[in-house]
Amino acid sequence: MKLEISAGARHILQTLAAAGFEAHLVGGCVRDLLRGVTPCDWDICTSARPEETERCFSGRRIIETGLKHGTVTVLVEGEPYEITTYRTEGPYSDSRRPDYVRFVPNLTEDLARRDFTMNAIAMDLERNLRDPFGGAADIERGLIRCVGEPGRRFREDGLRVMRALRFAAVFGYGIEEQTARAVHENRAMLGRVAAERINGELRRLLVGRSVGDILRRYPDVFCQFWPQLEPLVGLEQRNPWHCWGGWEHTVRAVEAAPADVTLRLAMLLHDIGKPACKSTDENGVDHFYGHPAVSAQLADEMLRALKFDNKTREQVVLLVERHGAQLPPESRVIRRWLNRLGPEAFFQLLEVKRADGMGQDLEKVKDRLLELDEIRAKAERILAEGQCLTVRDLAVNGRDVTAAGMEPGPEVGRMLRGLLERVLSGELPNERGALLAALQKR
Ligand code: ATP
Ligand code: MG
Repeated sequence: MKLEISAGARHILQTLAAAGFEAHLVGGCVRDLLRGVTPCDWDICTSARPEETERCFSGRRIIETGLKHGTVTVLVEGEPYEITTYRTEGPYSDSRRPDYVRFVPNLTEDLARRDFTMNAIAMDLERNLRDPFGGAADIERGLIRCVGEPGRRFREDGLRVMRALRFAAVFGYGIEEQTARAVHENRAMLGRVAAERINGELRRLLVGRSVGDILRRYPDVFCQFWPQLEPLVGLEQRNPWHCWGGWEHTVRAVEAAPADVTLRLAMLLHDIGKPACKSTDENGVDHFYGHPAVSAQLADEMLRALKFDNKTREQVVLLVERHGAQLPPESRVIRRWLNRLGPEAFFQLLEVKRADGMGQDLEKVKDRLLELDEIRAKAERILAEGQCLTVRDLAVNGRDVTAAGMEPGPEVGRMLRGLLERVLSGELPNERGALLAALQKR
């Protein structure tokens, strides 16, 4: 099936052409059309200067934020389209945009500044390609290759190191040999890149389908911005559960988790504290007592350093901290955990435990994996039945407690929490009569 070029993009290309300018689709949208994927946005490059572009679209809403880099954003039917004058660029220091740009007279020079051959293709309305670096052939082969000399391109902008890995993980593409070598050699360039930019690439990489391959092949790149990973990469673990070293176990656990940033981060970091907690007993068996708490502490530090939002950070740290929790498949235990974590975090924890198990000796953990399914089913039933999980769900309230003769004050809350404990454990039913009787008896 042939993918359509959006009506808005058509209109813009036609308008610029009618005014005598060159205009092409370029970058991600062309790449995605060639991959057979519907583009999520349509970038356009043109020979028109920004003020000329603005004049062409004077009847429309225009956003000027990118103007100093040659970008005019035009709204067509509510959709923003970025129209950028042919340019080269200066160094990137810390923002998403280069420090300065220089306009150039032709398309090929504009394409030459782009990072990878697959991103350096232009297309006109008749779908003719301008592809001076062989990007279409690389897409065909599924290969990521720098435009020009890879080392030089990574030194211009260190973020490209992460972009290469991100595209490889998301598309399942390979990285061409010289580009791959240059990724390793220039990983230290990431030290000059703003944490927010690395973060943006890492989140996308982690939910990519080949994330495992990339983590396996490029641990050195991840250690560059997260040096705390280094001891885990070399960690051996000799014990009956584990048939893999620390890094291979981590990679397998990441792969086994659903494609969700929080869960994938939790798996990447869940054992980060193991090296610091390692001890070997007299039988030569390795133990990692207390590692979840140490991992949680390190994870918190790492996520802060990379400027993750508070919500993601807090969720990941909680999951890392609790990943070793004992969870027998008993309703009263499940109710307690649902009460303690809330349903969202509880189900996330089940995913974490499942992924952790998938990274171990499957023969040995298969019963535990079945148990996790049982726990999930029971938890779903508890929620579907609307069973009592919080003080608010109790069949009695504070007024009942004071009516039973207790002075208003903090004791009332404590009383209700005590009743909740007994309901969660199954000792009392959540029925008004039974709870009132218990109040009388206190
Ligand atoms: P996606 O939007 O799916 O992440 P994309 O290729 O559109 O992919 P953008 O960040 O939107 O990525 O950038 C648009 C285009 O700008 C790219 O296709 C590429 O040609 C160029 N580009 C973006 N970032 C860089 C960079 N750091 N170095 C060189 N060229 C870049
Ligand atoms: Mg894009």
